[in-house]
Amino acid sequence: MANPLYDGLFGVHTGKTTPFMHLLNGEVITHQDFLSTASQIANVTVQLGLKPGDRVAAQVEKSPEALALYAACAQAGLVFLPLNTAYTVDELSYFIENSGASLIVCDGKNEEKLSQLGSELGARVETLNADGSGSLMDQARDMPSTFATVDREKDDLAAFLYTSGTTGRSKGAMLTQDNLLSNANTLVDEWRFTADDVLIHALPIFHTHGLFVATNVILTSGSSMIFMPKFDVDAIIARMPEATALMGVPTFYTRLLGDARFTKDLTAHMRLFVSGSAPLLAETHVQFEERTGHRILERYGMTETNMNTSNPYEGERRAGTVGFPLPGVELKITNPETGETLPDGDVGQIEVRGPNVFKGYWKMPEKTAAELREDGFFITGDLGRIDEDGYVHIVGRNKDLIISGGYNIYPKEIELVLDDQPGVLESAVIGVPHPDFGETVLGVVVPENGASPNLSAMMDAVCKSLARFKHPRELVVLDELPRNTMGKVQKNILRDQYQGMFT
Ligand code: ATP
Ligand code: MG
Repeated sequence: MANPLYDGLFGVHTGKTTPFMHLLNGEVITHQDFLSTASQIANVTVQLGLKPGDRVAAQVEKSPEALALYAACAQAGLVFLPLNTAYTVDELSYFIENSGASLIVCDGKNEEKLSQLGSELGARVETLNADGSGSLMDQARDMPSTFATVDREKDDLAAFLYTSGTTGRSKGAMLTQDNLLSNANTLVDEWRFTADDVLIHALPIFHTHGLFVATNVILTSGSSMIFMPKFDVDAIIARMPEATALMGVPTFYTRLLGDARFTKDLTAHMRLFVSGSAPLLAETHVQFEERTGHRILERYGMTETNMNTSNPYEGERRAGTVGFPLPGVELKITNPETGETLPDGDVGQIEVRGPNVFKGYWKMPEKTAAELREDGFFITGDLGRIDEDGYVHIVGRNKDLIISGGYNIYPKEIELVLDDQPGVLESAVIGVPHPDFGETVLGVVVPENGASPNLSAMMDAVCKSLARFKHPRELVVLDELPRNTMGKVQKNILRDQYQGMFT
């Protein structure tokens, strides 16, 4: 017997003194150092009475120990359940209760409140602070640094990862060992990671992007990462000359472009910049290449599936697209009403199938049945099309589709025109209630620094290039769009804000 996830990601590095994490204080954590910490934590979980299959909920700041907790769960056969650090203690109760976690690992500052919740729910509470202190590591330090890896099958659950909650309440996606492992192996090949790579890791580790995409790729390829507690332009600029790759959300790239120190020379040692979690503006793509000579590689994924598509490593990285389905991933565009596959070029719902696709939403059988077909295809909730060269384009989320007077309107099409107008940095197009049309189109534009865009000229330009039913009824200006921690635009907030505008 074996434990495919632990063996594949972690166990392969047993005894290696090669670097795994470079910390900002200059410290280097080797593969074996990391594994020893993980095994010590695994021993703590056994002492606390946890059994394989139990859930461990963790709301902790990003630290090497927090990542070792993930490895410990893999080794002890526990289901890891990382939680967004932005959630308040009140919000946490939903996740902890919903998941039935037997152990809660939290920051010391939340211990009191969570202990109360823990005793109501029968869960233990241990603390882990940003600096690695707290009751978890206090116990771990006295434990042996080896642990007999618990046997697991590839279809056993490895993690519950909650979705970002952009379109509604977060859902717990049940991910198996093989979901994670298969995707990591694919991405290493696709993006050409080798043991020589050094990744700048500045993403949070409670989300699929930083936890699974970034970390698992580094582990699978045996490379190392510069582990930053958070995104910080100064730190990234300081360490970039030692790095070869960066994975980020689009805001990472716009912020870097906003800094004059971010130059071609600074990026000379880099071989890859990956973007995802939210759409990258075509303009950012162009500016980035002009400034650095590198083309950002955009890919598309989600909590439920890990990564589905990627622009090619070699070959054209096409701005405004998310590239091709990854090897082993089937992707089709279907009619939302009938579920039938649409011809290439038509817009429809994106469905995916492959070893990366999750096993369903935890304790949400109806939602699972509605989104995960019996034949294994998952209805992603995103709308898109496949162009004549096979590149996948995302035109928005199903829930953001505007239906006005019976017409389907895809916000992205209007946003692209607005983004092109002089003085506009970015835009968001939403549907708001309208007495005659059911919904009507509202364009929200964010001006470039210092610009005051001419709204009526902009409206004229939009009207010239788009059919009448797509014309925004009105344009409004905002200093910035509401975004969550992953840089995703929160259109639900905009819809709430403007819902009474025409009624
Ligand atoms: P929820 O499902 O709770 O509403 P969410 O879908 O935002 O939240 P995640 O799983 O973190 O939660 O995000 C996945 C979504 O992010 C995708 O469905 C897609 O809409 C968006 N996304 C990811 N990568 C890209 C990309 N490169 N371009 C456009 N959108 C992307
Ligand atoms: Mg989603």
